[in-house]
Amino acid sequence: MNKEHRGTALITGASSGIGALYAERLARRGYDLILVARNRERLNTLASRLTTETQQNVEVLQADLANPAGLSQVERKLREDASITLLLNNAGIGTHTTLLDSDVERMAEMISLNVTALTRLTYAAVPGFSARQQGAVINISSIVSLAPELLNGVYGASKAYVTAFTQSLHKELSAQGISVQAVLPGATATDFWATGGLPVENLDPTIVMSASDLVDGALQDFDNGVLISMPSVHDLEQYEAFEASRQALLPHLSNHQLAPRYHTN
Ligand code: NAP
Repeated sequence: MNKEHRGTALITGASSGIGALYAERLARRGYDLILVARNRERLNTLASRLTTETQQNVEVLQADLANPAGLSQVERKLREDASITLLLNNAGIGTHTTLLDSDVERMAEMISLNVTALTRLTYAAVPGFSARQQGAVINISSIVSLAPELLNGVYGASKAYVTAFTQSLHKELSAQGISVQAVLPGATATDFWATGGLPVENLDPTIVMSASDLVDGALQDFDNGVLISMPSVHDLEQYEAFEASRQALLPHLSNHQLAPRYHTN
């Protein structure tokens, strides 16, 4: 792809894994970057490598997005920096544990990061994108948004929120020149698994994709305007049938009459 100036991409969770891969790919495409995460050292190391390799401007913004003060710092940046053309909501945590084995404070932190931060950052970015009639929001969801039974329930539900919110944003914003995409990775080889208490080596290797393949597939979908990107799903017709069935249900979801399967007195 030819390198052209594309404005600035603000990437959350850029210090490792999928976010760091996106940072590299987007810099090579000609984006300047604002890298957000808590680990300043890792962000600085990535920033100096990418500056050297791509000559793009790379800024580091250390922030804990599960903390209101850190989050408002990044919201301010999104409202005030008109060079930002892409918000990549990637920071997220997850686990595989059941309700009985999970600490509710950890679950609340997951909701703060996966749901509240993603929502507030989108609300901070979109008014500027709308005024400038240009911009893009990529939200990193998960295949568990379609399969909340697979891992921890709060994690699956948080990602179901991300996918649903993105579908709604697409409907609201596509007419205003704003591109929106949800990326639904399957199992991907990153620190995510070890951080959540189940190192990736415990998974069947045939279901685990590299972060670079995941990001390259998702960016190809982004270029093609694909709203729901699922690089690990081979038979896309299965998802298309699922989505067509959901769309067919929409006009029938509300009715003034109780469905006949219920008994009334
Ligand atoms: P990762 O390597 O653990 O990356 C997570 C990133 O989020 C790190 O950069 C981390 O940086 C940042 N982060 C965590 N807590 C944060 C906080 N409170 N404030 C700011 N940044 C925070 O895992 P990953 O796989 O790349 O995860 C990226 C996204 O992909 C997540 O949303 C995850 O749910 C999603 N996903 C992953 C998989 C998978 O199998 N790996 C599958 C589906 C979806 P610091 O620690 O420096 O803050």
